[in-house]
Amino acid sequence: MEREGFDLTSDEGEQRAIAVLFGLLNQAQQKAMGIEFYVWITQHDGRVRDSHAERDDKIFRWDNPPEGGHPSQDYGCRCYARPLGVEGYWERVSEGVETFAADLGRWEGNVDHMYLDTDSNVTVGKGKLLPDAESAAALPFRDRATNELAFADEITIDFDLISAMEGSQSRRASYYEPFTHLYLPQSDIDRMVTEHMRKDFKALLRQYPEFGNLPVSVQVALWDMIYNLGADGLAAFRLLRQAIEDGDWAEAARQSHRIGPAEERNQFVFDLFMDAAGEP
Ligand SMILES: [Zn+2]
Repeated sequence: MEREGFDLTSDEGEQRAIAVLFGLLNQAQQKAMGIEFYVWITQHDGRVRDSHAERDDKIFRWDNPPEGGHPSQDYGCRCYARPLGVEGYWERVSEGVETFAADLGRWEGNVDHMYLDTDSNVTVGKGKLLPDAESAAALPFRDRATNELAFADEITIDFDLISAMEGSQSRRASYYEPFTHLYLPQSDIDRMVTEHMRKDFKALLRQYPEFGNLPVSVQVALWDMIYNLGADGLAAFRLLRQAIEDGDWAEAARQSHRIGPAEERNQFVFDLFMDAAGEP
């Protein structure tokens, strides 16, 4: 009998066949449930092979089996795959999400009324662009005088007025405040950031399926880049993606430079990649 084959006449062979079958059923069931990812879990004992010990608690994708296959597929493997849904994945990256959300105001401002950004886009909160009056009217603006929720036509008045003003590279957001009547509460601004990041997260997972395995500082750098560039803008950074796949953080730092944002913001992201290079 060959080494890789199953000798069903022995107990060991039977157990082995059951383990493989269980692994395949687990995979089929999870995929049928729309679960794209799993966390590799070992038995945490001395018999776990080194190559699998390295995979413990790391995220994998059913569509992209690592060398030797998914848990239990390699000969004698006793590891298993814990399903990871989108909610669970989001939970796993919460440290980076919170860090980024706290940093964001430094780059995008934190403005509770509509204003024009340097490209004359109507903007509110932490850099939320409002392409038209409808998108503004969808937000829970309140009347500054009464604190009451504003009606859509009141929001449209603020939007049309700000939109008709002339943009300027030098004007601060506060310049526009006296022309507005409405504001957004901070809790709503923060919630909008989280909603925006939830959308970015889907795009990030398409480009970086193993995003949750990256060092937290690299996660924060990617959050900043996708927030600033959009999903297509980030996807254009192919050399960056290659460097990240290679785990070459110094190269990733070099490849992260963006045209547009302040040099200070580029430096911030550069340093985040270099932070990962400093880790063991
Ligand atoms: Zn194993």
